Amino acid sequence: MQIPCTQREMDLFETVAGAARQVGVPCYLIGGFVRDKLLDRPTKDMDIVCVGDGIALAHKVAALLDPSLKVNYFKNFGTAQIRYKDLEIEFVGARKESYNRDSRNPEVAPGTLEDDQLRRDFTINALAISLNQADYGQLLDPFNGRQDLQDKLIRTPLEPGSTFSDDPLRMMRAIRFASQLNFSIVPETFQAIADHAARIKIISQERITDELNKILLSPKPSVGLDLLYRSGLLKIIFPQMTDLVGVEMVEGKGHKDNFYHTLQVIDNISRHTPDLWLRWAALLHDIGKPATKRFEEGHGWTFHGHDAVGGKMVPRIFARLKLPQHEKMRQVKKLVELHLRPISLTKENITDSAIRRLLFDAGEDLEALMLLCEADITSKNRAKVKRYLENFELVRERLKAVEESDRIRNWQPPVTGELIMEVFGLKPGRVVGDLKNAIREAILDGIIPNNYQAAYQYMLEKAKELDLTPVK
Ligand code: ATP
Repeated sequence: MQIPCTQREMDLFETVAGAARQVGVPCYLIGGFVRDKLLDRPTKDMDIVCVGDGIALAHKVAALLDPSLKVNYFKNFGTAQIRYKDLEIEFVGARKESYNRDSRNPEVAPGTLEDDQLRRDFTINALAISLNQADYGQLLDPFNGRQDLQDKLIRTPLEPGSTFSDDPLRMMRAIRFASQLNFSIVPETFQAIADHAARIKIISQERITDELNKILLSPKPSVGLDLLYRSGLLKIIFPQMTDLVGVEMVEGKGHKDNFYHTLQVIDNISRHTPDLWLRWAALLHDIGKPATKRFEEGHGWTFHGHDAVGGKMVPRIFARLKLPQHEKMRQVKKLVELHLRPISLTKENITDSAIRRLLFDAGEDLEALMLLCEADITSKNRAKVKRYLENFELVRERLKAVEESDRIRNWQPPVTGELIMEVFGLKPGRVVGDLKNAIREAILDGIIPNNYQAAYQYMLEKAKELDLTPVK
């Protein structure tokens, strides 16, 4: 076997090979599984291609492995899947494909292994391993994919222009693989992406966003995002991001390039968290800057309010990209809105009240917010970075101390609306809300401690100002 495998995988290959012999079809391991094994990466799905009926082969394999196994199959596509323990095994008959201009769904006809390898998107994804007696375990590599794996190159097996024009999703995939694997795209292939970028419009938003998420989840997302920008794809799929590009000069003063700053922030946060939504927050944290950019005489460039403006943009961007609309979107929006707050706490003479307000506003997202702020430090001056990080460490300590004494983070009103209504014989309405807010503000400002007795007493005082008397 020319790929490293576990004993369990070897046993499974033997079973598939036996089934293929019984059905009378040549069969091969192919695609991402072979690529990832050769790269020594963890593998997920196992793809098997056979020259013949893939669905019949799947049924035979299932019968040999465990007769109670379910085979999911799609007659129209000639594909079948078996879920065996933690492994997803996919079967397909080798096929030839031909495309027409308006769709990424090709016309399909049965073909040879070589036909099937030719329809694969990249040389590194076209590698096959024989499971046939004559050359069992041998790597079949018609396009030198193994060399490209070694050289860390993404390259199409056929002429790249038609490869991308036929199925423009492959442009996103090329960039995603480059980002996931830290590979380069060969110049001819990259040029073809730039030439055919506009074709991405025929791809559904869900598929584009799926690839974008994979880029964001890669070890160094800036690799993929920069390629998206340089190929012209980003301008089409996410124009708000390319609005961040560039440096404007007035009176000899420039501002930083907010696009490249953003890429650095994402790489920074990605070293500390695998969380997709924190990475989205990093991507969008300065998205309000182009709309708020001003040049102030004698002062320089400002972006006042870009946090609030950026926060407002988040729901629209999430809707357009078909990202989730609820909890995750709200978290990203909140992080964008609050991303300047911890920095403002690094100044001197910060009151406990300001600390309590941040604890209250950030709530359970406080740790995420601190990670974002630390990632936002992108100065090239090492001494400056060190000083800023130390300042944030002090902010963390203050947050911890104030939280320990005041328990603001997952704050619940010590006096509830129900109690206010009961004490004063009120119906639900504005006055109840006003009293609740007054109590909350007094706690956050440190006028009263965060407990029931103090809050109750304060409620009575405030009520008196409003000419309310308790009914009991
Ligand atoms: P991952 O699992 O990380 O997405 P993968 O390469 O396994 O990577 P799949 O989408 O599972 O990706 O595809 C399996 C194989 O099918 C690929 O390795 C490739 O050979 C082929 N393939 C997938 N999508 C395309 C496409 N759009 N055009 C051509 N070949 C493709």
